[in-house]
Amino acid sequence: MRLILLGAPGAGKGTIANLLVEEFSIPQISTGDILRSAVKQETDIGRKAGEYMKRGDLVPDSTIMGIMEERLQQPDCQKGFVLDGFPRTIPQARELKDLLLKLNIYLDMVVSLDVPREEIMKRLTSRRTCSNSDCQAIYNVISMPPKQEGICDICGSEIIQREDETETAISNRLKTYNEKTAPLIEYYRKEGNLFTVKALQSRTVFEEIVRKLGN
Ligand code: AMP
Repeated sequence: MRLILLGAPGAGKGTIANLLVEEFSIPQISTGDILRSAVKQETDIGRKAGEYMKRGDLVPDSTIMGIMEERLQQPDCQKGFVLDGFPRTIPQARELKDLLLKLNIYLDMVVSLDVPREEIMKRLTSRRTCSNSDCQAIYNVISMPPKQEGICDICGSEIIQREDETETAISNRLKTYNEKTAPLIEYYRKEGNLFTVKALQSRTVFEEIVRKLGN
């Protein structure tokens, strides 16, 4: 199963990707997670990407394509994958198309998660993330708080508000999304494999995707 999840930050891509991972035993590939771990480990890529990420700007396409070209050829991708947060620009989508052709891989579906802006703002400003880069569990102070305030249920590390989840960074990320990423919806509609879902409840979205894939 090979899927792309498209959607604004906070649309629920990560949560839905997790459900798909369990259902189909495929890896979730999140460029955001890969970059955050590179920043934490202070690799060359991490050092370059960190400044863009703090501001809520996109990391240059060439850096992202380098990461993805390597990642998609790892053995666990043979069974399939769910792409979460990639592609994010038209050039990335075009380069992905060429890369998949080169690797002889076909996409099953591109899912576009449709969530109103007010809901996105509410979700993102209340989101907290585990500070342990190997865990990165996500919580929500309103809808899914950890059992003990400020502490990750899974690994016991401190839970933090990501630097790119402050109000200013979020507004910038949404602006960037509208300018650079939203045009991908039209791009994939023309490619013919787009499936749009109203994304208020992750479980319902997941079930709709599975039903659609079965058709
Ligand atoms: P995310 O967790 O997917 O929201 O990603 C966090 C940040 O990482 C974004 O705000 C970007 O700065 C960067 N990033 C993640 N994926 C990409 C991508 N495909 N292209 C460019 N920048 C990205």
